[in-house]
Amino acid sequence: MIGGCLCGAVRYRVTGEPKAIAHYHCRMCQRSSGAAFITWATCAPEQIEWTQGKLKIFASSENADRGFCVRCGTPIAFFTYGQRDDRRELLEVDLTLCSLDRPDDRIPQFHLWTSSQRSWVHLNDLLPRHAEDA
Ligand SMILES: [Zn+2]
Repeated sequence: MIGGCLCGAVRYRVTGEPKAIAHYHCRMCQRSSGAAFITWATCAPEQIEWTQGKLKIFASSENADRGFCVRCGTPIAFFTYGQRDDRRELLEVDLTLCSLDRPDDRIPQFHLWTSSQRSWVHLNDLLPRHAEDA
């Protein structure tokens, strides 16, 4: 899978398949994108190769960074960290599914954080729904 931002400055390549693909309705995803939800493809860090450009990083919480294109603002990545031996370790990287060149090639599997799903969003898919994290 390959993808990138709106302006083309940031490009990436993913080897293998994402561990999961889910729609996130949490307020932080809504705020950071300005959209009703973000569809994230969760990958292992070693699956991703940044082939062009550089992400601007915003530390949105203690254990997570959000990466976006500094030129066009496209949200691209969510980096989740953990602690190992007093060292910060990158555990997984989520990519915005719709920043892929071919977003229809992969199918979302469930909804998360539907406790903050916007009242005017009506989805008729039959995917599992979780009020918070799975
Ligand atoms: Zn861009």
